Amino acid sequence: MTEAASTPPAEDDVTGGGVRTACPYCGVGCGVIATPDGQGGAAIAGDPDHPANFGRLCSKGSALGETVGLEGRLLTPMVGGLEASWDEATTLVARRFREAIEEHGPDSVAFYVSGQLLTEDYYVANKLMKGFIGSANIDTNSRLCMASSVAGHKRAFGADTVPGTYEDLEEADLVVLVGSNLAWCHPVLFQRIAAAKAARPGMRVVNIDPRRTATSGLADLSLSLAPGSDVALFNALLSRIVEEGAVDDAYVRQHVAGFAEAVARAQAVSPAEVAAVTGLREAEIEAFTRLWIGSERVVTVYSQGVNQSSAGTDKVNAIINCHLATGRIGRPGMGPFSVTGQPNAMGGREVGGLATMLAAHLDVTEPAHRDALQDFWQAPAMPTAPGLKAVDLFRACADGRIKALWIMSTNPAVSLPQADDVAAAIRACPFVVVSDILADTDTTRLADVLLPATAWGEKSGTVTNSERRISRQRAFLPAPGKARPDWRIVADVGAAMGWPEAFAWADEASVFREHAALSEVAGDLGLDFDIAALAEIDTADYDALAPVQWPVPRDKAAGGRFFAEGGFFTPDRRGRMIPVAYRAPAVPLSQDYPLRLNTGRVRDHWHTMTRTARSSRLSAHMAEPYAEVHPDDAAVAGIDAASLIRLDSPYGTVVLRALVTDRTPQGSVFVPMHWTALFAARGRVDSVVGAVVDPISGQPESKAQPVRIEPFAAAWHGFALTRHEVTPKADYWARAKTEGGWRHELAGTRCPEDWVEETRAMLGVSQRAGVVSVIDPALGNVRLGFAIDGAVEAVLFASPGPVAVARTHAAAAFAEGEELGRLLIGRPSAALPDPGATVCSCFAVGANTIARVAAAEGLNDVEAVGRALSAGTNCGSCRPEIQGILEGLRPVQLDGMAAE
Ligand code: SF4
Repeated sequence: MTEAASTPPAEDDVTGGGVRTACPYCGVGCGVIATPDGQGGAAIAGDPDHPANFGRLCSKGSALGETVGLEGRLLTPMVGGLEASWDEATTLVARRFREAIEEHGPDSVAFYVSGQLLTEDYYVANKLMKGFIGSANIDTNSRLCMASSVAGHKRAFGADTVPGTYEDLEEADLVVLVGSNLAWCHPVLFQRIAAAKAARPGMRVVNIDPRRTATSGLADLSLSLAPGSDVALFNALLSRIVEEGAVDDAYVRQHVAGFAEAVARAQAVSPAEVAAVTGLREAEIEAFTRLWIGSERVVTVYSQGVNQSSAGTDKVNAIINCHLATGRIGRPGMGPFSVTGQPNAMGGREVGGLATMLAAHLDVTEPAHRDALQDFWQAPAMPTAPGLKAVDLFRACADGRIKALWIMSTNPAVSLPQADDVAAAIRACPFVVVSDILADTDTTRLADVLLPATAWGEKSGTVTNSERRISRQRAFLPAPGKARPDWRIVADVGAAMGWPEAFAWADEASVFREHAALSEVAGDLGLDFDIAALAEIDTADYDALAPVQWPVPRDKAAGGRFFAEGGFFTPDRRGRMIPVAYRAPAVPLSQDYPLRLNTGRVRDHWHTMTRTARSSRLSAHMAEPYAEVHPDDAAVAGIDAASLIRLDSPYGTVVLRALVTDRTPQGSVFVPMHWTALFAARGRVDSVVGAVVDPISGQPESKAQPVRIEPFAAAWHGFALTRHEVTPKADYWARAKTEGGWRHELAGTRCPEDWVEETRAMLGVSQRAGVVSVIDPALGNVRLGFAIDGAVEAVLFASPGPVAVARTHAAAAFAEGEELGRLLIGRPSAALPDPGATVCSCFAVGANTIARVAAAEGLNDVEAVGRALSAGTNCGSCRPEIQGILEGLRPVQLDGMAAE
């Protein structure tokens, strides 16, 4: 059975057979034109008319068409592991939530939702929890991403307002990037800045990050500050602003409160102390402050390196203080700028997706706001205090306070700190509902009821990007099976719980109209989020809605910047400078745990890989979870390059490939956040991160966990290719999709006595398959190939140390059906050089190819490499890595292991 897609695209929205929509990944919010191929897939192109990207897409966006298939999808409601009808599932969910509320009160239930939801989905979930159940126990995975920015905005501006626009990043004379590997995490914004800098070479970029990243190549000045010391650096800047007479006295006098207190706090620390805390030389700090003070048009961009900290809110305010003191806010080319990780983190903030907010930026602690919302919704019950923030919400599941939990479109068993404890907490909750697009995730495995949601390409609604721009996500594929839009799933439960009139929308356009109408109520109360001009939009216009930046008030032009002339959303309409002082990360290093764990993203994967891991092209960039370890730390721990390591904290252990590099500073280890139990045996890095949070925002400190590292005692290492998807039975494994099959990194703590039979069991190879084996007992090298009727099923390369196989070549040969004898050589012939680890995903160009051709042809810039090899000429995401190769640096590449 196939249900209709939410809303078919209107004619106006169709471009050459393609449908205008928005990318579902990061907060840049790029416009996409998707052209269905009639077989369930779609061709993808950047939308040249979308103001976020003007046609650009990064590697993830470009590969969207490879991720829309039905593989692994949840297509029908499941109750207790058995298929159920929507009626049965909806009735059960409504009954169990009602029973919990009747017996234990409204705070005994909770929703944990996601920045992947569309604004309409979010609006309905929030309305059900806050207005009708009467609890504020709805929180979102955006808590992990930018809650500190929200809290910092509210303290400084009186509302969660992003003051600037993307144009500011291009118009600035100085762009300061703080805790943000923009080149990999917000690639199209990075490309916009890079293009602006190329066109206007006087523009300067400062990169503030403990690590040297792909973003560093664009920087005129890189400051490798000590983890967590941002407040000290920006307080030093504020002190220098005052000393240099760079304060905008008129702006401060008219529009700012708290100046003297904030400055006094900043000046209480000497330059020498700042240098000691940040680990920067005084000359570096002086160079930065001189550049910042000397650049009227300065934008300070920040993301997870600032937010994911026990001092995250203070870091945000330390940055904003400098912009308020100089009046450099709300004018072209200047202002603080928080960039969000998720596609609709901003939309979630607009509808009260966080437990600390009400819809339309109304405040749960303000009686007038609560009353206005209750009146608007005609709601029977409203919470009077904030609900449980993410970490506390799962603690409440663990200790029995939460009796019924609904997780929507997110994977907390992987992504929350102390993820093992979170999984146990979910398991302990008496009734757990998960709505998702996938049948099998680390979290769906823990559910009593699974509800199939429509995916990107099938659902329809709006999202808001980091610059407050609302874009339509449009359906271009039919909803498969019994999958339904999230808003409708929640609305049906709301109706079944006894409120049919309040949850009776005909379509997502009706939900949007109500959301827009509510914003007028908030606007009347003096708040920033006002899209009242869209409150009467008809369905055809909603379907055709062009990207529009809020505010969209009835009586003024839409969009623009905030605060150039003051007008803050505080009671006295003044912005607030907040006195802040440096605080070290919450948990100190110790003899047992002497290194700081920094977590983050890789270029080609998204969150818990539920979507990007379906693309072999994206999976080729980083095929295995890894740890960047400084050479000095590796030497102390006895860790060799490309070996496997154990990384331990008091909360757990992960096993990772060691990437020994001075890109990460001595004393720190960097590990990507993406790998789940579906893709690696022990790669869930959040299982070792402690649940320490910022006391104001509740955002976890994801970048400062004390850990230790040691070699993983492997008796053998292996690399395997299999035709079919299998979860290897090995002590260590990591798998990634590749063309025509799967690639696996393997290791064991005991050498098999019978390699052939144990490999069959490990890789799920049929007894029907014949085997070719080359085993060298003296050296311990093993090569096995299995084939049925001449068709290769699996190959394994094993050795006592990391396996020296040309993986990209072997995977390509496996995909092309190379015969077994040649496959087992594991290296290309002299006439066919090894391409090396994939750098350019779009054109499958490897690091070795780039280095070889660049050396042979004397290519010395990225453009020349592009002309010769096409690498870097499509999405451009790999251009920083090509630059790194040309500079003779080892690229940030692993390809499964660094020894290739
Ligand atoms: Fe999507 Fe990439 Fe654009 Fe982010 S930068 S919205 S991931 S295409």
